[in-house]
Amino acid sequence: MAEDSDKSDTEELDEQSTSSDETKLEKEPKEKKAKGKKRGNPLGLIFNIRMLRRIVQIVFFLGINAYILTAWWGQEAITQFWTGFRDILPTLPIISPLEAEYAVIGGSFDVMQREFTSGLFPFFTLGAMVIIVTILGRSACGWVCPIGTIQDFATLPNREKIRPSPGTEKELGRMKAYIFFIVMFFTVWIGVSVVLGTADALKDALGIFADAVFDQFNPAYILFVIVPSQNWPTGFDNMWLLGTWGAVVWLQIIFVALVVIVSYWFPRWFCRWLCPAGWLYGVFSRDALVGIGRNPARCTPDVCNTCEVVCPMNIRIRRYPYQRVHSPECIMCLECKSHCPNKAIEIKFL
Ligand code: SF4
Ligand code: SF4
Ligand code: SF4
Repeated sequence: MAEDSDKSDTEELDEQSTSSDETKLEKEPKEKKAKGKKRGNPLGLIFNIRMLRRIVQIVFFLGINAYILTAWWGQEAITQFWTGFRDILPTLPIISPLEAEYAVIGGSFDVMQREFTSGLFPFFTLGAMVIIVTILGRSACGWVCPIGTIQDFATLPNREKIRPSPGTEKELGRMKAYIFFIVMFFTVWIGVSVVLGTADALKDALGIFADAVFDQFNPAYILFVIVPSQNWPTGFDNMWLLGTWGAVVWLQIIFVALVVIVSYWFPRWFCRWLCPAGWLYGVFSRDALVGIGRNPARCTPDVCNTCEVVCPMNIRIRRYPYQRVHSPECIMCLECKSHCPNKAIEIKFL
């Protein structure tokens, strides 16, 4: 009952505060910074959870393409560490194509697509994904996925992010579900055709979409597979090679550029509105073992909405019961925890 009454109170406050959200630019609060300075903890920088996440993101960005460490910098030992990691966890709930030249670890969704279109059912990949996500939620989206990382770093310099209203956010968020079902329709169709031995005509008709339908719109595939496989100029004298890349490749590059540029104003917009993999992972993450909750003795939702302003997934945290933010959108980035002025956000284990 207490939670219900709180919910209605916060919804009222939310309606007041979000009625103009669509046009209002909200500044990232400064409370936490001020507090951090007051404490004067010389180790504060080291133990800062935001800093830790950035480091983990960079480490995994290189790690999932670990062969590059050997190819470019001769770091054989580090590459071997990551290939050892791959032997334990070959796929993670992120987007990362195994077809990339330097790839060590694949994204669950990418690998599942390939397995389906080869006429196989992805028992292991699907099972591993479900286990990871039901335990850790979408932590891999928040801490590991290279496309999430790119968007986070694009957002970093901007203190004035745009937050669409809850209604608009919900409508835009539906797009990724539609994309998921369209992708899966063609993926399963190709897989069944392969099993029946009738796939040739279908694959001819689908052209570049035949192997994995989402790949051609997948920023990770474009960035790590399509772009590196083009004819790259080695100097000014053969810059004309850029002209051989083809219109589709340039459109894909423009799309990736948009993913980065738009993230400056709309944090993780690709994750929130377009990523079919993220939608799938969200189905299993809502009631994950690990999640976020608020301490009712500390939280002051009627005078504060800091956690919501800093949430890159634009989750209306105060609308959920104190006990748990049961949102499929939560990527466990812990930005809300880092910024809460009352230290009311807690990591919950069910
Ligand atoms: S939702 Fe974002 S972080 Fe998660 S898999 Fe998709 S691109 Fe990566
Ligand atoms: S959790 Fe923290 S930031 Fe969010 S409403 Fe409560 S006190 Fe404010
Ligand atoms: S609710 Fe908190 S942990 Fe979840 S996505 Fe938003 S800021 Fe990150």
